[in-house]
Amino acid sequence: MSHKVLSVVVPMYDEEAVLHQLVARLRPVLDGLDVPYEVVAVDDGSKDATAQLVQQIRAEWPELRLVRLMRNSGHQAAITAGMAGAVGDYVVTIDADLQDPPEAIEEMLKKARTENVDVVYGVRSDRSTDSVFKRQTAAMYYWLMRRVAGPHVPSNAGDFRLVSRRVLDAINKLPEEGRVYRLIIPWFGFPSTNVYYERDKRAAGTSKYPLGKMILLTTESIVTFSGGPLRFATWLGVLSAMLCVLVGIFVVVGVFTGQTVPGWASTVLVVGGIGAIQLFCLGILGEYIGRIFAGTLRRPLYLVGYDSMLDTDTVPGAS
Ligand code: UDP
Ligand code: MG
Repeated sequence: MSHKVLSVVVPMYDEEAVLHQLVARLRPVLDGLDVPYEVVAVDDGSKDATAQLVQQIRAEWPELRLVRLMRNSGHQAAITAGMAGAVGDYVVTIDADLQDPPEAIEEMLKKARTENVDVVYGVRSDRSTDSVFKRQTAAMYYWLMRRVAGPHVPSNAGDFRLVSRRVLDAINKLPEEGRVYRLIIPWFGFPSTNVYYERDKRAAGTSKYPLGKMILLTTESIVTFSGGPLRFATWLGVLSAMLCVLVGIFVVVGVFTGQTVPGWASTVLVVGGIGAIQLFCLGILGEYIGRIFAGTLRRPLYLVGYDSMLDTDTVPGAS
């Protein structure tokens, strides 16, 4: 395979309705860049004719490649497959439905090359074409993500972005399965910049992100970045222990003023106390499980910056 400056990865799940429109807008932009490029279409186990159509279009557009996944594996997995096979110095990921304007790719590449950054996020400056429900849930998602994954996660930056080969190498080395790129790429901390764009309506077809998939993405985002939910038991334990103390005071007062039914005090205190102890122990277990889980992700402990005076690669593990 000859050298390519740019790879464009397009995940597609049942996108036959939009494919011709996509090619009609994407191809002139890429041809106009005047650099060698490839387009990696990832067919995410479509049940319609997406893959066959890509094959047909390929006959007239040799830069188009097709990666076919055996079954529907999800948006992030499709992107992973596309990036694993991409050969470009820079890789752009873009949705197939033309909600991300292909025209912005030119600015992304220009910014990456002139400003010498490794990541260019496509940030949605206007989501007015999205439904109220989509906008509200998206706002909640980004609010939550800044809390679990850190303030460096850009709001309203989805999976339309450009990354350099260095970032791609770091990504391809991750052994972690449930990667949420919109969190893991900011987490790497490579120099980055933004390109702003208006999010269009889906050009054709229907959304492939029903509520169930949105909830899955959110769960994946939280558990791969935060031990918060595990700590929930600890806090509940602390809370019920405090409640127990209050009940204890109440009981003592009741005993002295003779206002309790015999046996009530000991029952309440024993049940409450044991509950608190159990929750607390669950919390302790949670702390250890959290560390075991973090260990299984095997994320790099650090990535070395370019201006370091070392003779090693920027990616850890490189010798
Ligand atoms: N997609 C995919 N696999 C899936 C779901 C979606 O490859 O299981 C692709 C889809 O074809 C599109 C992109 O991911 O190119 C974003 O999906 P969609 O536009 O349906 O999501 P929405 O914009 O509604 O959030
Ligand atoms: Mg879409």
